[in-house]
Amino acid sequence: MDKNSEIKNTGVVEKVANGAAGIIIGVGCGSLLIILGVALSLSIIGAIFGIPLVIIGLGFIIGGPLAGFLVRSAECPYCKNKISIPFGRKAIDCKVCKKRLLIQGKRPVMVE
Ligand SMILES: [Zn+2]
Repeated sequence: MDKNSEIKNTGVVEKVANGAAGIIIGVGCGSLLIILGVALSLSIIGAIFGIPLVIIGLGFIIGGPLAGFLVRSAECPYCKNKISIPFGRKAIDCKVCKKRLLIQGKRPVMVE
């Protein structure tokens, strides 16, 4: 299987996939927390834990897709393969060549 040519033309697809993954993870984790929170809130003592859980769950549902869509595509300076940089990350490892990359601005740079 030729992985390299597969990776090269997937910039847009990757972004959509990341967004979709974010939605699935966000909604999945979020709704689980909300269900748990609502169930706990049925008792007065449970509500102390239940209500924050519902709020965190809502945060997941909103934040998950956002985090997914904020993943940037870039090119590895070592092997020129497409890599995705999750939002807020300062350093990542290239999945293809396993080299450490520092994120400067929007671009990955080589670690000296
Ligand atoms: Zn690489």
